[in-house]
Amino acid sequence: MSNPPPKPVSAASRPTFAQVDLDAVRANYAAVARHVGGSAAPRVIAVVKANGYGHGAVPVARALESAGAGMLACADIEEAVTLRRGGIRAPILVFGALGVSDLDGVFTYGLTPTVSSPSAARALSDAAARRGVTVACHLKVDTGMNRLGFRFDNLGRTMPEALGRPGLDVAAVYTHFATADDPAHPLFERQRIRFDESLRCLAALGVRPAWIHAANSAALLRERRTWYDGVRPGLLLYGLIPPGVDASLPVAPVMTMRSRVVAVKGMRVGETTGYGAHAPAERPTTIAVVPAGYGDGLDVRMAGRGSVLVRGRRAPVVGAVSMDSITIDVTGLDVSPGDEVVLVGAQCGERIDAGEIAAALGTVPHEILCRTGSRIVRTYAGRPDRP
Ligand SMILES: *Cc1c(COP(=O)(O)O)cnc(C)c1O
Repeated sequence: MSNPPPKPVSAASRPTFAQVDLDAVRANYAAVARHVGGSAAPRVIAVVKANGYGHGAVPVARALESAGAGMLACADIEEAVTLRRGGIRAPILVFGALGVSDLDGVFTYGLTPTVSSPSAARALSDAAARRGVTVACHLKVDTGMNRLGFRFDNLGRTMPEALGRPGLDVAAVYTHFATADDPAHPLFERQRIRFDESLRCLAALGVRPAWIHAANSAALLRERRTWYDGVRPGLLLYGLIPPGVDASLPVAPVMTMRSRVVAVKGMRVGETTGYGAHAPAERPTTIAVVPAGYGDGLDVRMAGRGSVLVRGRRAPVVGAVSMDSITIDVTGLDVSPGDEVVLVGAQCGERIDAGEIAAALGTVPHEILCRTGSRIVRTYAGRPDRP
């Protein structure tokens, strides 16, 4: 008797997976564009760094491009090359520091680099000169973040040296806010004023950028005066309002992460579940095992803090988060193996979003989204590249 050929094992059949709604991405983009709209609407630079905040950079970038995004932005040349290879034609701004050596991607793939240090200006100018071309770049001014960028109070000294070089065309000038999501912090206003001063100083030095941009999601919601000629939302496009910002915009979360219960069992009083044997049960407890752990990007701080949805109810995470599983308390919920579990997203009218998880863990929603592990298969709903 011959054996039937083995059925191929598909990664898509893993019980834990993420679903990304590209129609929601487009709708969120439209909501931001409407918000900053008007007769002379600022451009929207759609931020898709860190694999599109964990959602998958290329499908998300295609959806944003089809929604009308005039420019995309990512962290480094490698991310931008991935987008180009995925068919993205829109201009791509690279936020990050340029390596001093390997700038080929900028030229081969037609990227828009940020010049944020004297060494970057030198390296980019040399690379452009070697090719006999001029490269359009964005100049970054550091107004108080104290990370990348030319210091706002030193432009008179640094600019002539940085920009008196051949091959560089400063198409835009920008800055980045450190505390836009903290309305109580005075640095936001201070940075805005410093940026305006910097723009005057640059004009006096003969720098005439075609456009100016500054605002991330929190800034664009809080302060119209940060809009200039363009805004740079990330978080809003993925459907989350930055916590701490008292504003509303009709955006909806884009990612749902689901799994299934694989086992249900009882624990007696005083027993524990998982590594470390923490948190002994105070009452007879029914627990369910869900095959998603820190290897899938779940945060170990979820233990005792986070919840998931099962049968439309919140079930708290009990015991340690393991690499490949969590255990949840389902006492009284009539849960069976095979029942759907929602780790992020909605089920029967209940919802857990990345903002809620971030608040429970004491971090920002950006981190929760980006954590979505490489083992998680993303499936895409919605029309891929049509408005
Ligand atoms: C990540 C990033 C943004 C977008 O920030 P959100 O808070 O996600 O809106 C904008 N500008 C720069 C320079 C960034 O690095």
